[in-house]
Amino acid sequence: MRRSSVVIFVALAAAFLVVASPRAVSAPLALHDAFNARQAFTYTSTVAGYGERWPGSPGHQRTEALIRRVLQRDGATLTADRFTATTPRGPLPVDTLIGTFNASADPAQGIVILAGHYDTLFTKGFIGANDGGSSTGMLLAFADALAHAPKTRLQVRLVWTDLEEAINAFTGDDGLYGSRHLAQKLAADGTARRVRAFFLLDMIGDADLGVARETASTRWLQDFITKAAGDLGYGRFFFQYGVGIIDDHVPFLRAGIPAVDVVDARYGAMGPGLDGMGAWHHSTADTMDKVSARSLEIVGRTMLRTVELLDAKE
Ligand SMILES: [Zn+2]
Repeated sequence: MRRSSVVIFVALAAAFLVVASPRAVSAPLALHDAFNARQAFTYTSTVAGYGERWPGSPGHQRTEALIRRVLQRDGATLTADRFTATTPRGPLPVDTLIGTFNASADPAQGIVILAGHYDTLFTKGFIGANDGGSSTGMLLAFADALAHAPKTRLQVRLVWTDLEEAINAFTGDDGLYGSRHLAQKLAADGTARRVRAFFLLDMIGDADLGVARETASTRWLQDFITKAAGDLGYGRFFFQYGVGIIDDHVPFLRAGIPAVDVVDARYGAMGPGLDGMGAWHHSTADTMDKVSARSLEIVGRTMLRTVELLDAKE
């Protein structure tokens, strides 16, 4: 009796250890839990450290090399949409980078796209820690998460757009060079029909986080983000104010793709005489001290939770 109870105790203790030991927990992480915000912050800081990243600059080349390195390590299929743009500065090379995850053999497989630009303004001393840096870093951390989470039914494409920034101003055909080219390509080859959602990330590292309800964006898709943010207790950081913004999502909307600009449109002080998107927008004050890992965590987890919700109805 005594002996057998010892045996039972040992067996129970062993069972407890199996359950309690983190190494023994074999359930795979949900996609949004696989997102590492510290790593996203580190990537952002690395990219900002490369300095100016306008097309053709050394910083642009180093960013491109980093994106390629991470995608290769994470097992993504890497493609590029490369062309020469006609701009007010003359011809410029544009190189939009695409990392594809979870592609199936089904030619009709649904697709979700998460995008953000990796170029910066042609402005001396502008390093765009938040504008260009934060979305680049978040997408790299998405690649890491996708490499470690269970496969989604939807194909996931991470897109680093190039030459988003206007040379002079967002008027006529200036600005959004890479995204206009890619959206036209997806429309022309029939891929656009398969795209369930296009999410653009822009300036989402702002330590004082507030994601705008961008007014041209697809409303029902914003509702998915609201649900995802609510699930995670982040509701107050989303859609508390509305504003219309010309950004990389516009060409995709024009191609008939449901799209949302996930953008913090109040970066620094707001007011008369200041930039309409905040005092630090397009200013040399757009540096890493204005960016927080917590904001990257809130937006990153929310967007990957949104992908999970879309995937569940696929
Ligand atoms: Zn910008």
